[in-house]
Amino acid sequence: MGGLIKAASLSLAIVILAACGGDNNTVSNGSLDDNTANRAEQTTYQWKLVTTWPKNFPGLGVAPENFARLVHRMSNGRLDIKVYAAGEIVPAMEVFSAVSSGTVQMGHGAAYYWKGKIPAAPLFTSVPFGLNAQEMNGWLYHGGGLELWREVYAPYNLVPMAGGNTGIQMGGWFNKELNSIEDFKGLKMRIPGLGGEVFTRAGGTAVNLAGGEIYTSLQTGVIDAAEWVAPYNDLAFGFNNVAKYYYYPGWHEPGPTIELIINKDAYQSLPDDLVAIVEAAARTINQDMLDEYTSRNNAALIVLKEKGVELRRYPDEVLDVLRETSRMVMEENADKDEMFKKVYASYDAYRKSATAYHQISERAYYDIRD
Ligand code: CA
Repeated sequence: MGGLIKAASLSLAIVILAACGGDNNTVSNGSLDDNTANRAEQTTYQWKLVTTWPKNFPGLGVAPENFARLVHRMSNGRLDIKVYAAGEIVPAMEVFSAVSSGTVQMGHGAAYYWKGKIPAAPLFTSVPFGLNAQEMNGWLYHGGGLELWREVYAPYNLVPMAGGNTGIQMGGWFNKELNSIEDFKGLKMRIPGLGGEVFTRAGGTAVNLAGGEIYTSLQTGVIDAAEWVAPYNDLAFGFNNVAKYYYYPGWHEPGPTIELIINKDAYQSLPDDLVAIVEAAARTINQDMLDEYTSRNNAALIVLKEKGVELRRYPDEVLDVLRETSRMVMEENADKDEMFKKVYASYDAYRKSATAYHQISERAYYDIRD
């Protein structure tokens, strides 16, 4: 608000509505000899950011609040972003449409929620048995991934950015033990994206529910099982009260990227310094979310164990089937959709190179550390 007050206090203050949309209130002070550059520096933008998360939900919901605060500080209040939880302006699953249409300027969620609109979108969140968080960042920022993501979202008038990563997730919550792939048959599980496709192909039924709907659905038996994130977030929702077995590892989401999306008209209305601030702040929360999960999952796992949760590793036999099924699902998606094929070719080439090196670096180190 500082920028607004300062502008309003000047006798020559004039108010111009931004050309690019009703919510971009542009406040400019200036005299007749103001040049365009000065006016750009003094313009204040007020944006709305909608999310797919409950209000201030640990990690996921806090990240966009941190983003808005950071942008406000770095821009000295010139870009003021108000964050809305799922359901406050639009429901979680309408975030993409709201930003695409310009109802709001920004969104924070996960690309794989938009699989129904864009078959290639889940590749920018996570691929079963694919890249981990470190590798996702490598692919996006230095391996051509972000350019492809922008190409995929361009027809929807959206500019995407990475806006967080949870690190590898857990395999999910079940009320029965899984001893073979046969145990998936008839199971209805909350598991979105490509992991959901694989789960369905393996005999289960995948459903996509927003985070805030999972607990009640598990409790009432609408679903039999659910994956959400990892100990820090799963403890926050209290899934240990409605499910007994906590499976690992998260084969379906080895390092999911969370997305920030910006309406392209709003993005292009920003002067270059504010664009740089938005991109730097996005990069900051992208890393900070991973850092926070890295720290807090450990403590939350101890609490879950104390509460009697039974940890189970997926049997190798089950993982072998899921790995093979994932490969088939990826090939079929590539055959059906040209953009999926193009993005996956880039992703898979990156995965192969990352795997080759990480065998003798990250993995070799994990093996010797303990
Ligand atoms: Ca998940």
